[in-house]
Amino acid sequence: MLLRAQREAVAQACRRLRREGLVVGTAGNVSVRAGDLVAVSPSGVDYEELTADDVGVHDLAGAAVEAPLKPSSELPLHLAVYLSTDHCAIVHTHAPASTALSTVVEVLPAGHYYTAMFGGPVRVAPYATFGSDELAEHVAAALRGRTAALMSNHGAVLVGADLPTVLERTAYLEYICQVQLLAAAYPAPQRVLTQEEIDKVAGLIAGYGQTSTSHRAGG
Ligand code: 13P
Ligand code: ZN
Repeated sequence: MLLRAQREAVAQACRRLRREGLVVGTAGNVSVRAGDLVAVSPSGVDYEELTADDVGVHDLAGAAVEAPLKPSSELPLHLAVYLSTDHCAIVHTHAPASTALSTVVEVLPAGHYYTAMFGGPVRVAPYATFGSDELAEHVAAALRGRTAALMSNHGAVLVGADLPTVLERTAYLEYICQVQLLAAAYPAPQRVLTQEEIDKVAGLIAGYGQTSTSHRAGG
């Protein structure tokens, strides 16, 4: 089987998104790039039942290379990102807080320092019909210099070097959107962080947590 490990990773990611409540039903999609090929979740298949066999492999022009099922309707979006960046993994969700905010803001205010995790304030790509080339263009533009974007009246999209990193960030994005919605309900102006502080935190996040040499004192 071509790209067996990547197809398994895509299927596992879809099941995890479903378990974590970041997608409902068949909403959202996941892909991984390996060289000139892309393993992408199939369209309209319930994630609870998704296996590696259902995940198709397509080339960067969208042609099926080994695909038992119709690919995600958002394949144009995934390909637009891969063709214009070095990213190798994409997660798209309809997570509730991300989707709610996508209907009311044009950029996610920097209310939380986690904003730094996404390269700066997360933009909202203008609305276009799901699966359209227009949506793919809007999303690719909104992602410039960022690892996440909201999609107006639709959901969220996250990109990165590998699937584990992108999945982790997917949960953090939903978290800061939840926080933003809670803050917006409070009748007082919100304090937002400056770009200078976001840049400083971005540096700290890069070295955050345990490094391979610091966390095993005594071996
Ligand atoms: P697919 O099931 O075709 O991937 O579509 C779900 C979706 O989120 C469309 O934007
Ligand atoms: Zn969608």
